[in-house]
Amino acid sequence: MMTMAHAAAGAAIAHAIRSPVLAMAACVGAHALLDLPRHEDLDHRSEAVLAIATGALTAALFGLRSREFWGGFVCAAPDLEHVLRPNARRLFPTHRYPRLHACLPTPNVSAPTQVAVSGGTLALVTLRDGRG
Ligand SMILES: [Zn+2]
Repeated sequence: MMTMAHAAAGAAIAHAIRSPVLAMAACVGAHALLDLPRHEDLDHRSEAVLAIATGALTAALFGLRSREFWGGFVCAAPDLEHVLRPNARRLFPTHRYPRLHACLPTPNVSAPTQVAVSGGTLALVTLRDGRG
């Protein structure tokens, strides 16, 4: 999935799981699971803009020290290797082994769908948190 979708999913996971250790472990696992369905990815610049916007929105909604912000960061973090190690062999399994990326025969999840679901996810978490 797009980095934005990973960040929104991580915020929701961290909101739902009270234990920080379990929440962060679930966020890393969720990144791998979210990379499995067929999906659209954008160019690195567009991904970066949307990911930074999602991080800023999450920080504004929940605070920089919130588990929602850090869950989003941790869930999205494996995609940093695309930026920090652009020409190196990938480390995260769903990036390293191409047959694991977008390998499930699901309908293709388009970028606009991912943006809409990510925004909806953050809205629901905000409402559940009593801030909406
Ligand atoms: Zn990924």
